[in-house]
Amino acid sequence: MKKPQMRAAPRQASSPLTDLSPNDVGLLVQHHMAHSSGNLHDVARWHMDDNVWNYIGYNYWIAFDGTIYKCRGFKQGAHVSNHNHYTYGIGYQGHFGSQNMTEEQLESGIILNAWLAQECGLSADEIVGHGDVAASACPERNFRMSELKDGVEAALEKGVSASELNAKIVYDGNDVKGFVEDGRTYVQLRNLADLVGVQIDYDNDTKEITFDGKVVDPIVIEGRSYLPVREVAEDIGLSVDWDQDSRTVLLK
Ligand SMILES: [Zn+2]
Repeated sequence: MKKPQMRAAPRQASSPLTDLSPNDVGLLVQHHMAHSSGNLHDVARWHMDDNVWNYIGYNYWIAFDGTIYKCRGFKQGAHVSNHNHYTYGIGYQGHFGSQNMTEEQLESGIILNAWLAQECGLSADEIVGHGDVAASACPERNFRMSELKDGVEAALEKGVSASELNAKIVYDGNDVKGFVEDGRTYVQLRNLADLVGVQIDYDNDTKEITFDGKVVDPIVIEGRSYLPVREVAEDIGLSVDWDQDSRTVLLK
């Protein structure tokens, strides 16, 4: 599952925010705005000017038209007292006690929560409403929680199945499987390292992964790290050929 498209939220944090790694997140908490029309500029005003917080309290925010905004991202939020240190908060435009959550919001909510669940190693069971962890009516009765959770569950199950591993990466007479997406062949980092005899290291403090001493930024699918073969292989000085008929990447 790829990172969803998102836009930057308005304004900047007025002081540094605290990191909150996906590894340390146990719940994804959904919120409405308890306001029928307030947009993210209004939310920024409420949180930063009225409450005098250093930034918009949510980690992500979804407008009526389904646009996803990154607010705090992987920094600690300010969205539910005493629970901010292990949760990401997702805000949705609207008042779901008196109006409906839009189709676009549901769809983007599924895409965003599925991606976050994957990054945090969570299931759809760890998607909750504000009122599930604190005394609050938020996100109110018209928040489409069961549809959201069903959608996330389906998206997580999809992941990358064995049948989707439809490409082959060959080096020195041995091969491993990969998959093709958007014209690029992806391979599991561990498999590629074994194939070409290169070392992977994981730094527990910085959370950085290095492949042959170079920092890489893999996509994670069902807890496994994948990288585009061409980029990584060329980085370590291998030549890369693609045979379309046999869907094979030849490394030399
Ligand atoms: Zn709330």
